[in-house]
Amino acid sequence: MEIITESLRKFNTFGLDASSKGIIAINSEQDLFDFLVQGLSPAKILGGGSNILLTQDLDAYILKNNIKGIEVVDEDADQVIVKVGAGESWHQFVLWALSHNLGGLENLSLIPGSVGAAPMQNIGAYGVEQENIFHSLNAIHLDTGVRKTLFKSECKFGYRESVFKNELYSQFFITHVSYILSKRNHVLHLEYGAIKDVLLNNNITEPSIRDISDAVIEIRQSKLPDPKKIGNAGSFFKNPVIHLSQYQDLKIKYPDMPSYPVDLQTVKVPAGWLIEQAGMKGFTIGSIGVHKLQALVLVNYGGGKGKDLWQLALDVQSKVRDKFNIIIHPEVNIW
Ligand code: FAD
Ligand code: NAP
Repeated sequence: MEIITESLRKFNTFGLDASSKGIIAINSEQDLFDFLVQGLSPAKILGGGSNILLTQDLDAYILKNNIKGIEVVDEDADQVIVKVGAGESWHQFVLWALSHNLGGLENLSLIPGSVGAAPMQNIGAYGVEQENIFHSLNAIHLDTGVRKTLFKSECKFGYRESVFKNELYSQFFITHVSYILSKRNHVLHLEYGAIKDVLLNNNITEPSIRDISDAVIEIRQSKLPDPKKIGNAGSFFKNPVIHLSQYQDLKIKYPDMPSYPVDLQTVKVPAGWLIEQAGMKGFTIGSIGVHKLQALVLVNYGGGKGKDLWQLALDVQSKVRDKFNIIIHPEVNIW
């Protein structure tokens, strides 16, 4: 087992510098067992580093997940169950599915990171969440080394939430995730306005799953800062879900406030709009800031410090709370 001591800078999409007790590549379940028998602790699990904010040097070992493999484990005339190594790139998995005309992942195109992190926050975009196609996952308990299979109901998926962000936080190393993908009669999700607009612009009236993926990629590339050019971790905050009565009061004061009904009692308000209205869109201090086109994205223009980004996040949160009496919660994992 090799323990590498180098900065975590190139292991996180914010491009932040931090040290650790050492980085260990986990290429197989056996590598993980080899680590666990050493009794080294504590350990943190790292995928692509696209949803973490390093606020300090870490007094922990970093288990860099590289477990690979994509395998069809069951199928019938309509669908397949695909078991994927948690260290596979999520977007490469999406492309693999498209190349086999397997549906279900297309709206989730171009999300950075690894397959193993997808259940962690139940990744979602353009009206689809990974729980829509999730079958089960395999995980290993970090304290006991016991293998466990968790099915959908046990994962307690919610909006950017799961049991792994709550009661099982940091307890399990996810090694494989299995998804159910359609072979035919694909169910298409076209309700997000931007997807419809792109398809219309490209004169596509009967889209294939590939057309939807292409549309999502086009929208994402036009709107989101590329972490290879500007350090970021995507949306820093979750969109708040507020009670209908609070929404109705706010709507009188702010008639332009966008919103999406969640159920009969609650409404989702885009956090990006709240941050913009609170005057923070494009705010820059030193080499960090709030992105000038996407207020939901905090950025490191280069050389910024994680602790300053965290302070900026708290300032953004206070500004939104003071103006709207709404608390926006980070989506990004704070390390
Ligand atoms: P990491 O950042 O490495 O880890 C995130 C958390 O998961 C950590 O707590 C880590 O310990 C834990 N973890 C990672 N792997 C495992 C494992 N194998 N077992 C147990 N725990 C694990 N997210 C969305 O939901 N939708 C989007 O549309 C979206 N767009 C994005 C766009 C950009 C430009 C960026 C930078 C990020 C975006 N994200 C989005 C956030 C991010 O890509 C996802 O959350 C992604 O799933 C993180 O994967 P990762 O491998 O990089 O996780
Ligand atoms: P957008 O299209 O500008 O819309 C702003 C917000 O409004 C989105 O966050 C979305 O909520 C919500 N929304 C828009 N249309 C909706 C509809 N028809 N029904 C319900 N909610 C709707 O958003 P964006 O920032 O460009 O992102 C587009 C999609 O990619 C979103 O789904 C977003 O979550 C996802 N994304 C996520 C990250 C991340 O890091 N988590 C980063 C980039 C993009 P939802 O977020 O709940 O979908």
